[in-house]
Amino acid sequence: MKKLVVGNWKMHGSRASNAELIQGLLASDLATTAPRADVAVCPPFVYLADVAAALQGSAIGVGSQDISVQAQGAYTGEVAGPMLRDVGATYAIVGHSERRSYHAESDQLVADKARAALSHGLIPIVCVGETLAEREAGQTEAVVGRQLQAVIDTLGADLARIVVAYEPVWAIGTGKTASPEQAQAVHASLRAQLKSARSEAAVVPLLYGGSVKPDNAAQLFAQPDIDGGLIGGAALKAADFAAIARAA
Ligand code: PEP
Repeated sequence: MKKLVVGNWKMHGSRASNAELIQGLLASDLATTAPRADVAVCPPFVYLADVAAALQGSAIGVGSQDISVQAQGAYTGEVAGPMLRDVGATYAIVGHSERRSYHAESDQLVADKARAALSHGLIPIVCVGETLAEREAGQTEAVVGRQLQAVIDTLGADLARIVVAYEPVWAIGTGKTASPEQAQAVHASLRAQLKSARSEAAVVPLLYGGSVKPDNAAQLFAQPDIDGGLIGGAALKAADFAAIARAA
């Protein structure tokens, strides 16, 4: 399976710094050599159109960091799937742990956002992950299983069209990475859950996210059930992001 590497820029950037980052990405082998991995970046909504235009014609795709469950209407502050498509997005991240915790997004809301993305022609990247307390209590597989089950129950026959990102909350932005073995164990359980729900969903790409850096990416991506990465901090440096994509 071709690997997928996605950069989540979170709430970082400006027109000037984005232009510099994009210039670095376009100057790297990501844009010039036949890519062996699919690559995309997810800028803040306000810069999405600019970034998509700047990357047009390159092998680097664009996604959003969130999506409304609504298609249009009186939903102040929300951004709808058709708008994201209109400005050039291909992917939509849903259920990032920062949205689950700071915006109280429930498992069901995340699943509904995944369904909204699919219904507007976007590929949802559904994030799941446990907190440190949950891991220490031995609840990792139960927590990510519960988060994924809401998506399975909501999407039905469309399940095979998503991407899942396993992002242990304790590894995001902390410099602590899950070991390749820890990540692989969770990925294997997610794979089994997807497969038992729908046999065709066995091929859903499973990304790992949480302090992926150029020096740990290759080992993570070598695991049998790790199909790529969702990259935060290291996606803000063109050289690091290109090195991670190269490792894939
Ligand atoms: C993320 O938030 O999606 C992420 C993986 O962040 P970082 O790489 O900075 O840990």
